[in-house]
Amino acid sequence: MSAQKKTGLAVLGLVMLAMLGIGWYEFREFRTPKECGFCQRPLQARLRVVVEIGGQRREACCPQCAVSESRQEHKPVRLISVRDYSTAKVIDPAQAYYVNHSRALACSHDAMHMDEMKHAYALKFDRCSPGAFAFAKKEEAEAFIAQNGGQILSMEQLLGGANTQ
Ligand SMILES: [Zn+2]
Repeated sequence: MSAQKKTGLAVLGLVMLAMLGIGWYEFREFRTPKECGFCQRPLQARLRVVVEIGGQRREACCPQCAVSESRQEHKPVRLISVRDYSTAKVIDPAQAYYVNHSRALACSHDAMHMDEMKHAYALKFDRCSPGAFAFAKKEEAEAFIAQNGGQILSMEQLLGGANTQ
């Protein structure tokens, strides 16, 4: 094989690799939502959850947002996966410790969809409030409470209000 042919093949190979890379990137971008399926707030790595409401699966910005949605829609909610607030790792929702009623804000409200949120502000209601933070370890939930206040809830307690009406 001539040197020219070799270079040609190498270039072709690189181009194909680049195209595959772009394809994969676009696939990932398409598959991974960036906004909450209910309130369109940006999804945060440590708070995002996967939930099922009325049989429809979506990603939500925080567990509380999904609970609010389920209350408003009068449909039961099921947590499929939640993230540990300390590590952003996916954890089993049934095993997690949820901290609610703390002073910490789960979702950043400022500068996000102010127009859409105006109505909510006027009513002093925020669908993500009080925020629910999930933790894999009880000690970490307790450390969070020592800093921000709040109380530990089990998954049943967190969803209880939503699913018993
Ligand atoms: Zn949301």
